[in-house]
Amino acid sequence: MLLHHTFTGSDKVADRRRYSFYRGLFTGDVLNFSKRSPFVKEIMFERIYPTKIILPMKMHYGVPATPTVKVGDYVRIGQCIGVPEKGTFSVPVHSGISGRVSDISEIVLPNGIKTPAVTILNDMKRTRLESVKPRSGFKLTAREAMGIIRDAGICGMGGEGIPTAAKLRRAKQEAVQEFLVNCLQSEPYSTSDLVAITEYPDYVVLGSCACARAVGASKCVFLISENRKEQRQAIANSIERIKDDFKDLQFDIKLFRERFPQGYYRLVARALYGKNLVLGETLEKSCKAVLFNCSTMLACWEALSDNIPMMSRIVSVTGDASGGHNMLVPIGTPVSELLSNAQDIKNGSDRIVWGNCLTGIEIKDAENTPVVKTTSVISVVRRMDVPRTPCIHCGLCSECCPMNLSPNTIYEMLNQGLGQKAAEEGARDCIACGCCSYVCPSGIDLTTSIASFAGEGRIIEVNSLLDNSGSEGRAPDDADMYYVGEASLLEDYADSDEDSGESSPDSITLPFEKDKKV
Ligand code: SF4
Ligand code: SF4
Repeated sequence: MLLHHTFTGSDKVADRRRYSFYRGLFTGDVLNFSKRSPFVKEIMFERIYPTKIILPMKMHYGVPATPTVKVGDYVRIGQCIGVPEKGTFSVPVHSGISGRVSDISEIVLPNGIKTPAVTILNDMKRTRLESVKPRSGFKLTAREAMGIIRDAGICGMGGEGIPTAAKLRRAKQEAVQEFLVNCLQSEPYSTSDLVAITEYPDYVVLGSCACARAVGASKCVFLISENRKEQRQAIANSIERIKDDFKDLQFDIKLFRERFPQGYYRLVARALYGKNLVLGETLEKSCKAVLFNCSTMLACWEALSDNIPMMSRIVSVTGDASGGHNMLVPIGTPVSELLSNAQDIKNGSDRIVWGNCLTGIEIKDAENTPVVKTTSVISVVRRMDVPRTPCIHCGLCSECCPMNLSPNTIYEMLNQGLGQKAAEEGARDCIACGCCSYVCPSGIDLTTSIASFAGEGRIIEVNSLLDNSGSEGRAPDDADMYYVGEASLLEDYADSDEDSGESSPDSITLPFEKDKKV
């Protein structure tokens, strides 16, 4: 059924309602060091070509992929170097540089995950696979588009790294109507998503439209902070450019108040639909909506249009002890190489954090810690010894908790071994946002304690989103949907597919050139 396009352009945006949730942190621009000044912004988008990359086989939610290369092998840009074992829930891994494999061994990531990793030494020749080139004039069914996204190794770039093809498939099964694109990026210090929108707005919007069609949604809604005028305008302009190719989709831009952690799906459900999702409830089922990060949508369009697998990403390198940078880097780039390219960052005694300063993890070994698919920011923050004192019952932690918990009460219960009572108090709803620890004047690390307790519950929650299996890594019934087979490099979906001439009810047409339907 064709629906009328209702997007009315940026001129109306200012009149719109603002959405949000109660509480959270309001950091304003205080912590946005990567957008300090127009001058810094001008020079901050940098491309890094590292001397080596370390590619963990597990950068996503699920089980590790299996390396398909051996030490000494030559690999090219775009080459698949890790594939999921048959019947496992996983995504493939690709190289963003050309060079020789120098090592394959197990590493431990800062979050404690042990995974095999392939190290590739850069020959600086930038030799790429021939298949990595723009697709021309093609038609794709929804299933083919999801297959490309699966084979491109794309997983959520803003959160837990859920395989995107699986999430799309789930959304299709649930017959979602609203395809939500998270452009909020509320975490302090990080502006990588915002730079993705500024630099590649058409890719973000086209990727969103293609995926919205693939899942059968009727509306594509971009969620963005009211303060991000430049990005808002970029998206509005892009919608104007492509809307005629997507007449079956309605478009909307919804403005949100800027506060952290605005992009979490349960808070989005509360703000947009007034629904309080309990643990295990999904946006798809309860609200007939699905939420994707804007950088993930950019990656999807790169795969669909240019046959580029997920092999690079934009990373903010910033903090209170440094200037601001946004760098386009091959995935697997060691954090030390990012820092050495950021001349103004002196990391002597500062803390290097894998992620943002509220929820990230301190890196002990920057040489051997890579940027992974979900790394949106590396924060460099001053090391401060906050004096630890007993709780003074100021109530600040409760005031800022976005899940309406009483962190100090729960913390005390957990300290006394009263897990059941803590659960009754709502501890399993903790989303590990870090706000309570951040505001606590007594320097109490509430988050670690409460989030660890809630962790088990969150695993169940993610699994329910994917396959209702209830255990990490178990393959869904139609596991082959996620199986990539041989060293798949997207060739299965070569341009010749366009000649099939079949019109499927699932058909989506990519608007590239003329006939460039998605
Ligand atoms: S208790 Fe959990 S959800 Fe609440 S502020 Fe602390 S970390 Fe965030
Ligand atoms: S913010 Fe810290 S000091 Fe204040 S009530 Fe919470 S735990 Fe106690």
